[in-house]
Amino acid sequence: MRIFNFSAGPAVLPTPVLETARDELLDWHGRGMSIMEMSHRGKDFTGVIETAEADLRTLMGIPSNYKVLFLQGGATQQFAQIPMNLLDGRSADYVVTGSWSKKAFKEAQRVGRARLAASTEAGNFTGLPGAGELDFDPQAAYVHICTNETIHGVEMFDLPDVPDGVPLVADMSSHILSRPMDVSKYGLIYAGAQKNIGPAGLVIVIVREDLLGKAAATTPTVMDFAVMAEHGSMLNTPPTFGVYLAGLVFKHLLALGGLAAVERANIAKAQLLYDAIGASGGFYRNPVEASCRSRMNVPFTLADGARDAAFLAEAAQRRLEGLKGHKSVGGMRASIYNAMSLDGVQALVGLMQDFARQA
Ligand SMILES: *Cc1c(COP(=O)(O)O)cnc(C)c1O
Repeated sequence: MRIFNFSAGPAVLPTPVLETARDELLDWHGRGMSIMEMSHRGKDFTGVIETAEADLRTLMGIPSNYKVLFLQGGATQQFAQIPMNLLDGRSADYVVTGSWSKKAFKEAQRVGRARLAASTEAGNFTGLPGAGELDFDPQAAYVHICTNETIHGVEMFDLPDVPDGVPLVADMSSHILSRPMDVSKYGLIYAGAQKNIGPAGLVIVIVREDLLGKAAATTPTVMDFAVMAEHGSMLNTPPTFGVYLAGLVFKHLLALGGLAAVERANIAKAQLLYDAIGASGGFYRNPVEASCRSRMNVPFTLADGARDAAFLAEAAQRRLEGLKGHKSVGGMRASIYNAMSLDGVQALVGLMQDFARQA
């Protein structure tokens, strides 16, 4: 029996997708071998990657002047790869709203020039900068944001107003595909797969074509977006199994009705959980300002932190796992990605209510 998996990542995947992968594991479409055992250059796998891209384009409404890249190295590699490709000898602006954007900013400084446009660290990353707190350089090569801070549970529902012509670059690792997004508002979107897309080892980059071809001369070939785009993400061997599984997830989300339907389900789940926290009379607390509470990652603390272990033990009894908070924040964190069912969130809320009652 499967657990309710609240892990922040690698995270729960849709059961029907895993079942399909299981059924096809030894013999993919009558070919007598697994997708993992096939040449990436053959027409079978080429079909898989092309279909995955087409389905992602449909799901997200990706305009035709954007390239979709299936890469490796995780979102962390993108922290370096993006400045290598986009700085073009200039400086980039970073909006720091949690641990991940802070890491991205630090890494960019190793590669070239990066400037802090705003930081909410003084407030322990519990909110977003107001318009008046954003100090943008109109000459910046790009503005980097993290639209969902996985550790702090802060999600951006409105984008910062960046200077004309400066592209927005967004780390969407932990909420991509959780709701419709207007891709045309971004110069580049990237996301590691292991939260809402598929298995770890795959990272997706969606980049506007006019931003390609500016990589620093020292950029390794395999890290040059333009080269990767030119080769359809197959300059070298792509993470074939990850691409295959991501493709199954895209088909699954399309069958559910696309991202508008996915968003409705996610709103219902998040509301249920935040309402339970709010109704607990302070027994549970989420520190994030209401306007930017993440629908995907919900950190919460117990008023009595000494009871954390007991809470987690009771959770494990009920087969609710992955709830321990990140060490930098403490307490609990429930990651309720697309593949977490409403049943799972109801089970968590039931646990929270019972545990508070017993106290
Ligand atoms: C998980 C995560 C990362 C890091 O992903 P890796 O694949 O481990 O490099 C970066 N940014 C965000 C927002 C994340 O949630």
